[in-house]
Amino acid sequence: MTEILMPVRLSDSIAATLASRYTLHRLWEAKDQQTLLADIAPRIEAIVTAGSILASGMSFMVDAAFIQRFPKLKLIANHGVGYDTIDAAFAATRGIMVTNTPDVLTEETADTAFGLVLNTVREFPAAERYLRAGQWLGGPYRLTASLRGNTMGILGLGRIGKAIAKRGEAFGLRIAYCGRSQQADVDYPYYATPQALAAACDILVVAAPGGVQTRNIIDAEVLKALGPRGFLINIARGTLVDEPALIAALRDGTIAGAGLDVFAQEPKVPDAFLSLDNVVLLPHVGSASIETRQAMADLLIANVDAYATGGQLLTPVAECMLARPPEQ
Ligand code: NAP
Repeated sequence: MTEILMPVRLSDSIAATLASRYTLHRLWEAKDQQTLLADIAPRIEAIVTAGSILASGMSFMVDAAFIQRFPKLKLIANHGVGYDTIDAAFAATRGIMVTNTPDVLTEETADTAFGLVLNTVREFPAAERYLRAGQWLGGPYRLTASLRGNTMGILGLGRIGKAIAKRGEAFGLRIAYCGRSQQADVDYPYYATPQALAAACDILVVAAPGGVQTRNIIDAEVLKALGPRGFLINIARGTLVDEPALIAALRDGTIAGAGLDVFAQEPKVPDAFLSLDNVVLLPHVGSASIETRQAMADLLIANVDAYATGGQLLTPVAECMLARPPEQ
């Protein structure tokens, strides 16, 4: 029977389904993880993990050193579209396939992004705090900025970025974008750098992948370019934003506000954010609806089943597309 390692806790239903079909090793439950790993590593064919850890509150790097511990490893299945905690390029060189869960979470995550846009620009959470504190009795909540007529700049116009753009157009926003290259079939204005995009937009939405290539891509210079009437929204990964620079920019009015679903050291959120009123904070709930999480779980399990039955993997990541299918 195929032996699978789950290094971190995913949902109980994913673990139960996998355990009913395969031999599942729950690493996070082991008292002595190194002893367990030494025992099972020679037999493990698949690792099932998640980039942002759903239940355990800790992330786990499936890096080259970890991957090399498993001589029979053929599949790393990720719960989530972002797989920046997996060294997929290294895995591909070893003929190990990596799968993720794209598309099924696109609309949910775009909804979350747009919820953050509305809440940040129109200050709904702060207005609600005002009401709950009884301050309305003393006068109306202050007027806020508006969405219409402004430009939304999207850093990373991929599946989720495009779904956010569609919502932005419906709300009367102009759309612009930045990526590593201009997309031939996209009519939105293209900016070659995050700084140029920030200078051209009012609401900068970050929707590009995490990882070394995008670390701190939103830095002090980008925030300065966004300007005192600008808003930053991040639903991608916390690592894309230089958090100390963002805290300074929110404090001194370099930008107007921010809406964040993701943080560099989840689930730890810098205290400075908690004490600022011009930032809206969410605990990484981008895809966190019952239906979407079920669809992600189904796709994750379908990839494992495809591997175990010698079928075609449903959603291999780009780094593995050119790699040969795993030998059984
Ligand atoms: P996707 O379709 O692959 O889109 C990613 C986009 O980012 C592409 O358009 C790509 O365009 C661009 N990009 C890649 N590298 C870049 C770089 N170095 N600089 C600028 N742009 C770059 O992925 P997706 O499905 O939309 O997901 C995007 C990300 O959202 C995921 O990686 C994940 O981390 C995050 N996410 C978060 C949540 C949440 O719960 N908050 C939920 C789902 C996803 P080019 O190739 O042209 O550069």
